Amino acid sequence: MICPFCKNTNTRVVDKRDRTDYSITRRRRECTKCKMRFSTYERIENIDLEVIKKSGRIEPFNSEKLRRGITLAVQKYITSEVINEIIERIESRLTNQKGNKVLSSKIGDMVLEELQVIDKLSYLRFASIYKKV
Ligand SMILES: [Zn+2]
Repeated sequence: MICPFCKNTNTRVVDKRDRTDYSITRRRRECTKCKMRFSTYERIENIDLEVIKKSGRIEPFNSEKLRRGITLAVQKYITSEVINEIIERIESRLTNQKGNKVLSSKIGDMVLEELQVIDKLSYLRFASIYKKV
């Protein structure tokens, strides 16, 4: 996202409000350079990806489901803003990978990699829940 005031390309999300149809998200962004804030309306791309579960069952990738899973495990420790950033990074990694199938365990590992750097307690909590599943 480019800052409309100074054209700086480095902005951060300061607030996010999902609309009910989940296809367009309004985001408040703040420019890291001039500190001006502005709104963007961003379309949530549905990632064309199939997830292979441990049981062998295949289902389409659903980022809301991923968000719920992470939120349930770590909401006491990290904010929903940080969880959104984790999901954005994982989605971009998933869209850049080869092929359109991914093991659910690989997504779990990606979450753990993220949590490991962000918050140790969240990491341990997610790991304990996720290893049992
Ligand atoms: Zn700016």
